[in-house]
Amino acid sequence: VARTPRQVLGAHFSYTEPDQTPNPVLVSASAPCAELLDIDLLETLKTPSERDAFLGLVSGNSVPAATNPWSLCYGGHQFGSWAAQLGDGRAITIGEVTNSRNEKWEVQLKGAGMTPYSRFADGYAVLRSSIREYLCSEAMHHLGVPTTRALSIVGSTRPVQRETQETGAVVCRLAPTWVRFGNFELFISRGDIPNMRKLADWVIDNHFADVVNGGDSQKGRYSSWLTDVVRRTAVMIAHWQAVGFCHGVMNTDNMSVLGLTLDYGPFQFLDKYDPEYICNHSDTSGRYSFDSQPGVGFWNLTKLASTISPLIVAEVGDSRTKAEETLREILATYPVVFHNTYRELMCKKLGLRTVRSDDLDEIITPLMDVLGKVQPDYSLFFRSLSTDFKLAASHDEDAAAAAAVLSAASANQASCKNRNGGASSSSSASSATAAPPLAGALEAWYAKYRARLLSELPASPAPVETAAADQQQQPPQPNGNINGTPTPTAPSSSSSTTSSPHSSPPAILPLPSSSSSSSSSINHHPQSFLAHEDALRTTRMKRANPKYILRNHLAQQVIEQAEQGDFNGVNELLRLLQDPFQDGTLEEQGRWAGPVPSWALELKLSCSS
Ligand code: AMP
Ligand code: MG
Ligand code: MG
Repeated sequence: VARTPRQVLGAHFSYTEPDQTPNPVLVSASAPCAELLDIDLLETLKTPSERDAFLGLVSGNSVPAATNPWSLCYGGHQFGSWAAQLGDGRAITIGEVTNSRNEKWEVQLKGAGMTPYSRFADGYAVLRSSIREYLCSEAMHHLGVPTTRALSIVGSTRPVQRETQETGAVVCRLAPTWVRFGNFELFISRGDIPNMRKLADWVIDNHFADVVNGGDSQKGRYSSWLTDVVRRTAVMIAHWQAVGFCHGVMNTDNMSVLGLTLDYGPFQFLDKYDPEYICNHSDTSGRYSFDSQPGVGFWNLTKLASTISPLIVAEVGDSRTKAEETLREILATYPVVFHNTYRELMCKKLGLRTVRSDDLDEIITPLMDVLGKVQPDYSLFFRSLSTDFKLAASHDEDAAAAAAVLSAASANQASCKNRNGGASSSSSASSATAAPPLAGALEAWYAKYRARLLSELPASPAPVETAAADQQQQPPQPNGNINGTPTPTAPSSSSSTTSSPHSSPPAILPLPSSSSSSSSSINHHPQSFLAHEDALRTTRMKRANPKYILRNHLAQQVIEQAEQGDFNGVNELLRLLQDPFQDGTLEEQGRWAGPVPSWALELKLSCSS
């Protein structure tokens, strides 16, 4: 197998072989991911011979005889410019597994040595970046975000030179296919339409058969396929925006044709909510800043659309005008799917039972506007809103809650200033003059939110049903049966607990429970009914607002431990990220779920990998 970096013409892939990994050690493996390959991880690791076989496979040290590993050939637009051939420079697909559920998974090793696509680089990956990719893949999956998966990390004694000398690692990762937008682009850049069509046909037959066969019969095969890629991409990015995920390198070679989050490099989950946040230090123009992501997704899709346009032209009877119109129509579905999905996800985060057409304009955007100015910790804000917002809180209590959010946010800003010895880059709650209007804006939003929640409450129990104000209540629900109120996301039996015995003190919204009421509609509901509704909403919201997030500083802590040979941190963090909505023990909360410590607020991590 020739691995000399070169231009590979007229081919979709090259056969490759992983290097031997010296002194491989299993840092971590993900049991739910192993299940995708029908592997019972615990059993496997218990039996020495099976453990060795597993380690051999995921380190690249023993390639199954039945397979012929390969690396894909692709190009891409990097930061808006065409970069020509890139390809899997350090990723080698060992083979494809069809599991007992008839799902296909391509098993790939990242960091197992050079390929024809390594260009000027070494084909390796360091332990640091491998841990980040591994943990984030699994965290994203358990947050419900479409993503490629990670089965394991193997550490080794291989020296790998980056800014300093580090050690190498191999991540074993899984995806139904690793084909990216850039695979198609490379063929078109070389005028090779037949190979582009061949790849499209392979992708459609293997991964979009349902869509092109079962879908809109008016639409051609390639149009149906592109429509679905647009949909999947929009859904993926809506999830990113809802969960506060910054990808960092949305080049077209990092865009999966399946709409899976792919290539975890300088990614970051937002700590404070700064919509303009740039997580990639080499992204000097902010092309891939947090709030640019939806637009970049669209830009990338326009590249894919123009790349496959020859297929569409042929499909619409060789008419360029017709093809352009078709492509425009397909691309126009992107903002629609994006906004619908984002609205749905945010309504879930807000514990709303219904999704209304004006929820974006009336509730979600106003909240994000005020949060963008206050800049509280994104995940903590929503988790605290889940547990601490009370339907029956008074004006004063709302005001106190708003003030608490602001003061937590400005505490963060203040520590940033101290660390930098001066200016904080963005507008924030730290300015004393800005604070009162912001508190007022947040308080005003609480009132809107309360009204929105009340407007979808089921009927309250009998004594108040005689009250004239019951016209508020919709949709109609079985009267007087608050326990049996059916809701789309209704929690199961154990669910009416507001918080576990371990739940921590509210981090942001210390709302004392209240007997006073500020709104006339509230007066028509008994306190016990509102409290019960609060409890139900808390349960719903906790399932949509994670307690455990892979924050940069947490990843950094377990990386530093792992670099010393202690993998307990990686494994403990993985365990929590695999169940991110539960409260956890007090100890777990203290270590992994608290606010970002001041030392970590402006953590600058190396982007090398
Ligand atoms: P990325 O920015 O991670 O998407 O990588 C862009 C391109 O660089 C891809 O083709 C990678 O395979 C390649 N690449 C990145 N790091 C290495 C490395 N250490 N060795 C070989 N190729 C690499
Ligand atoms: Mg990449
Ligand atoms: Mg990368």
